Amino acid sequence: MSNVLIIAEAFKGQVRRASLHALGAGQQLAKRTGGALHVVLLGKGIGEAGKSLSTFGATVHVADAEALAAPLAEAHAPVVVELARAIGATWLGAAATAYGKDLTPRAAALLDAAMATEVIAFTGEGAAVLFRRPMWAGNVLADVELTTAVKAFTIRPTEFAAAAAGAAGEVKAAAVNVPTLKSRYVSFTEVKSERPELTEARVVVAGGRGTKGDFKPLEALADALSGAMGASRAAVDAGWAPNDWQVGQTGKVVAPDLYVAAGISGAIQHVAGMKGSKVIVAINKDPEAPIFQIADYGLVGDLFKILPELVAKVKANH
Ligand SMILES: Cc1cc2nc3c(=O)[nH]c(=O)nc-3n(C[C@H](O)[C@H](O)[C@H](O)COP(=O)(O)OP(=O)(O)OC[C@H]3O[C@@H](n4cnc5c(N)ncnc54)[C@H](O)[C@@H]3O)c2cc1C
Repeated sequence: MSNVLIIAEAFKGQVRRASLHALGAGQQLAKRTGGALHVVLLGKGIGEAGKSLSTFGATVHVADAEALAAPLAEAHAPVVVELARAIGATWLGAAATAYGKDLTPRAAALLDAAMATEVIAFTGEGAAVLFRRPMWAGNVLADVELTTAVKAFTIRPTEFAAAAAGAAGEVKAAAVNVPTLKSRYVSFTEVKSERPELTEARVVVAGGRGTKGDFKPLEALADALSGAMGASRAAVDAGWAPNDWQVGQTGKVVAPDLYVAAGISGAIQHVAGMKGSKVIVAINKDPEAPIFQIADYGLVGDLFKILPELVAKVKANH
């Protein structure tokens, strides 16, 4: 058996969008390996979320228990491992979210599984499936072979389509055996924003050093387009934008329908986080700025002049 087990993630009782992309990757992998697709959801009070996963042709395992209420990898990993063994999973994957990046390596270690992270595609068939992943800020793509019996991976949600509807899958309760923990969950501090979550937004308006710290014209555009805000590392390091706005190699990877980069030069480390965007609009006063090489639309000029004009046009057409 070479079954595929995808770890899904629930937040406030709902399956996260990133998990649907992980499940989409799972569907692709199951096709390539000929294995059956399984998905596990862990938490407390997640019955409805579990049921919502039953339309993708996968067997759904719901581990619903008080001991799993907090997203602690130390508590969740043994449950995933027990299930992986019980169903004969040889492929174990999750989305590369904070939860997936924390939990998957821990489960992989317990299963003696080698692991590939931030996978963007699969190649090959059967047991010889390889994991394609970017290296050096996306300048090199490596096809990685994992030679262990069980193979673990995280996927970039922006690189895989969300799961397609499939046959109705059975929903089962998973065994929950959590050992005494050495860590304790203290609290979760949520950054509250009226705007959509950066990695899930349809539109992202990002600013860099060229804003000179004034993000107001960018925020006006983001709000006119119901988008999220992003920033280059230079803007974050200068203290002009919060950390969780950073896009790039050491920030978030986004692939919205529309990405507006204003006053951003287009360094490879920034581009690594947004080049998958469907339409890229660059606003920069330097016509030689590298961002124009990847932009679909380039506006050469002062962002403080261009952005208010854009906002007025967007509002006039809404
Ligand atoms: C290991 C490592 C990891 C990194 N990770 C990241 C990362 O995750 N994300 C990231 O963004 N960077 C990252 N960086 C930093 C990256 O190399 C760049 O330094 C950074 O992206 C530059 O930010 P910027 O484009 O805002 O600034 P700059 O490169 O200084 O560009 C500013 C641009 O604004 C334009 N401009 C100025 N005034 C105006 C105006 N009025 N109107 C229009 N345009 C104007 C200029 O022409 C210029 O092109 C990383 C670097 C390293 C070494």
